[in-house]
Amino acid sequence: MSAAALAALIRDGQPCVVLTGAGVSTESGIPDFRSDTGIWAEVDPFEVASLRAFRRDPARVWGFYRQRIGVLREAEPNAAHRALAELEVRGLIEGVVTQNIDTLHSRAGSKSVLEVHGSIRSAECLRCLWTEPSDAVLAQLEVSPVPACPQCGEILKPGVVLFGELLPAGPMEQATQLARGARLLLVVGSSLEVWPVAGLPLEAQAFAVVNRGLLKIDAGAGEMLSAIVDALG
Ligand SMILES: [Zn+2]
Repeated sequence: MSAAALAALIRDGQPCVVLTGAGVSTESGIPDFRSDTGIWAEVDPFEVASLRAFRRDPARVWGFYRQRIGVLREAEPNAAHRALAELEVRGLIEGVVTQNIDTLHSRAGSKSVLEVHGSIRSAECLRCLWTEPSDAVLAQLEVSPVPACPQCGEILKPGVVLFGELLPAGPMEQATQLARGARLLLVVGSSLEVWPVAGLPLEAQAFAVVNRGLLKIDAGAGEMLSAIVDALG
């Protein structure tokens, strides 16, 4: 499908909601974590990124996430993130639901962002629900193998959704509402393999009246979305 045709679909598919996955950040130098060059080709996620691993050996999980947060904070938003922010400014996108934890949509200027898999922005306390910003967490990790909750002393958990952990109810509920209200749900860079996010397009389709459908852009997200912005004038 051409950029012009997709642009027309977005213009006619209001309200439009966008769902993004790892593919939207590959042009920022973050390989899809499940690809051959991705992070899970090097480490076993169940050893370093599962709830069970966190309960058994939080220092190991934090050793992994400390490095991961450092890498992701170095990354910059790409043309795809910027194009989506621009489409929101123009009133053509209601919001972005993302599976990504890298915060690049927000850093590109998108205001309505639902990070349904959490993010590297902060860590959280499972006991008292305190949220601690990453800067403070990284400072603690300079001197300790695990960060502690300043409120109750419990070991903090990374603010990303770990394997074996439920998705945060709030963002997922909001994402479902957004999808239900959408005439068009545009999927960018997500292979829709991970539930329950993979079910969101079904929500949108169920309530779509005209031009309903599911579009996938697996490659060249930045180029394609920039072309759409241009096509929309
Ligand atoms: Zn606490």
